[in-house]
Amino acid sequence: MEFVNVIVDISHEKVDRVFQYRIPEPLKGRLQPGMQVEVPFGMGNRRTKGYVVGFAGTPDYPPEKIKELSGIVEGGVRAQTQLIALAAWMRERYGSTMNQALRTVLPVRQKTRQKQERRLVRRISVEEGETLLREYKRKHYHAKARLLEALLLEETISWKKAAEEQKLPASVIRGLEEAGILTVESETQYRNPFAGRFREKERDFALNEEQRRAVEGIWADYARGIRRTYLLHGVTGSGKTEVYMELIARAVSAGKQAVVLIPEIALTFQTVKRFYERFGDRVSVMHSRLSDGERYDQFLRAERGDVDVMIGPRSALFAPFSRIGMMIIDEEHESSYKSETVPRYHAREAAIFRAQMCGASVILGSATPSVESYHHAQTGDYGLYRLSERTGGARPAKVSVIDLRNELREGNRSMFSRKLQTAMKERFAKGQQVMLFLNRRGLSGFVSCRSCGKAIPCPHCDVTLSLHNDGKLRCHYCGYETQMPPACPSCGSRYISGFRAGTQQVEREVLKRFPGARVLRMDYDTTRTKESHEKILDAFGKGEADVLVGTQMIVKGHDFPNVTLVGVLAADISLYASDYRAAERTFQILTQAAGRAGRGAQAGEAVIQTYVPEHYSIRTAAAQDYEAFFQQEMMYRRLLSYPPAASMLGVYLSGPEEEVLIGRSEALGEKLRRMRAEGLVVIGPSAAALSRKNDIYRRAVYLKHEREAVLLQIKKRLEEEFEKDTVWQKIYIQFDYNPLNAY
Ligand code: ADP
Ligand code: ZN
Ligand code: ZN
Repeated sequence: MEFVNVIVDISHEKVDRVFQYRIPEPLKGRLQPGMQVEVPFGMGNRRTKGYVVGFAGTPDYPPEKIKELSGIVEGGVRAQTQLIALAAWMRERYGSTMNQALRTVLPVRQKTRQKQERRLVRRISVEEGETLLREYKRKHYHAKARLLEALLLEETISWKKAAEEQKLPASVIRGLEEAGILTVESETQYRNPFAGRFREKERDFALNEEQRRAVEGIWADYARGIRRTYLLHGVTGSGKTEVYMELIARAVSAGKQAVVLIPEIALTFQTVKRFYERFGDRVSVMHSRLSDGERYDQFLRAERGDVDVMIGPRSALFAPFSRIGMMIIDEEHESSYKSETVPRYHAREAAIFRAQMCGASVILGSATPSVESYHHAQTGDYGLYRLSERTGGARPAKVSVIDLRNELREGNRSMFSRKLQTAMKERFAKGQQVMLFLNRRGLSGFVSCRSCGKAIPCPHCDVTLSLHNDGKLRCHYCGYETQMPPACPSCGSRYISGFRAGTQQVEREVLKRFPGARVLRMDYDTTRTKESHEKILDAFGKGEADVLVGTQMIVKGHDFPNVTLVGVLAADISLYASDYRAAERTFQILTQAAGRAGRGAQAGEAVIQTYVPEHYSIRTAAAQDYEAFFQQEMMYRRLLSYPPAASMLGVYLSGPEEEVLIGRSEALGEKLRRMRAEGLVVIGPSAAALSRKNDIYRRAVYLKHEREAVLLQIKKRLEEEFEKDTVWQKIYIQFDYNPLNAY
């Protein structure tokens, strides 16, 4: 690469531009995104610091106008500047305005000022005070005596109270301050949401062999100055969190800070608690239920260096730390790491970029790594460590797969297979607990045959068609549509329909078959209020119910030693989500669900009910064989050029006038096809999965190419055109780089 894009470290208003410089010969190949550099800037060519945010092979300006980069700057970097550089990178990669990107990375600066509480604190003993008070009274120093009396009653009083209620002039207060009797403290009040709720304790066991290998391996790299990304592939309960904490403790001892990303606070409360127990008040937490003020306070605590470890969902990655040494992403495969608003960034990618900028190592942890991350580990981009056993000797659950087509054939129309019913009865008799999991991901519009289990695929994209309100089946990628057939195209059965069961029906069915069973339900309806997750899980943990029925949220990260049976009611539903990640999600959900059974001393069992027991995602999940799943899935991605085998770019168009929107998206499709970029695949335009929302119509075009650079280049060209040409003014356009969910 000949040219480097730099964002210059000057005031806020001027950063919405990226400046291009020529790379001098000796620096070629040495520059990395996020590196701090020195560049000539402005009229006087004053040397100014900046950050590398990208590279270009061809210049965006006349070459004679491009200046040469001066050099690389070694050493520390201010947090705010790092974040601005991160915003610039996000803008380039994911597509947004600089403003949108800045608003994403920088915390909302509160209009209301911080709570500035000035307090008066007594600095002499009560005895000394009493002696002094007698002296004041003798000398008729009335004002001073009143203030001292108040301070003898309470060691600390607010300035406001002293000044207003006691009518004391500031000069009196200052007088006592000068005499060393009191001090005025104007501590800003920072709210720390979990302060004092947990007691600190040390780990009271030794790390096992595999944990040690991971810790020592990663730390040896770190100590040698090697910074890279590692994948920690470990089954649930294998001790990944302990590995994170050990590495963080070492980094903190070395004067560094750490960021820990978790999918969602409400579901990972136990993890947060463990961090508090290990690192005490040097931990701060961000989550969606903090008020703006509380959230901002956490940022201030971080900025002031009062905090070593910041935990939170994806936005915690923007913590204003300047000394990050470790960046952890727990459950890295979770789709909540992808932002669904512009800029549609992926927290994993953004974290890796930020880590490069501040010289941090990145650790991705998961029992079911994303196909992307595992692919990177296979190619050697990421280091790979495994934790293959559950700690404490808990054995993996025994998994059986039940073919629901057989159940129907043999006359069982209940949503519970005979095997599941027998198993439930057994647990109730023993006083053990059961979790029933209803996989509802991708449920809307899902149609399948209850006799043969097949869904109806798009003839062009190999994803499942979904049923829309007008009775037609559509493909969300290419727009193919067809009438809903009256009978199954594969086997002719008339039992073809959408799957309608919800958690309430499951609850009813449990009560019908097992009168007297105590059932708790955890789904969207029962968890809308604050702390409702915690309450339900807490009650279940205390044994206040025999069965917990729920959606995805029950399969994540909770330890219930008395749960020895997990039933997955309709495993395949997520397979029919109409996007290319359906099999990956199904595998992840089933593996997690099976991992919930038998966390304690008793052996666990999982029963997976499905219409397609032969599907590889179900077979490999039942066998708990990640490697086999990955091989199959990667083959499919290669065959159809889906990420990570290729890169994909969604261009989403929306607007209130359907005809204008259709016209524009057709024009866009045409334009992209006319580019004739070699190897470029243009899919669509077609109606989005959600084709109308609040009377705004939505359409999408998808692009695929082997090389991400080609797609990013095309994105840039489109951005310029959308900005210049007024025909686009009535259309709102968003880009989605490597989309996770259908638009
Ligand atoms: P993961 O993050 O992989 O789900 P955790 O770190 O939460 O696993 O570990 C599961 C449980 O095992 C925790 O209660 C943890 O304290 C305990 N544990 C972890 N490592 C060890 C070990 N080496 N010896 C004993 N107990 C351990
Ligand atoms: Zn059929
Ligand atoms: Zn299609």
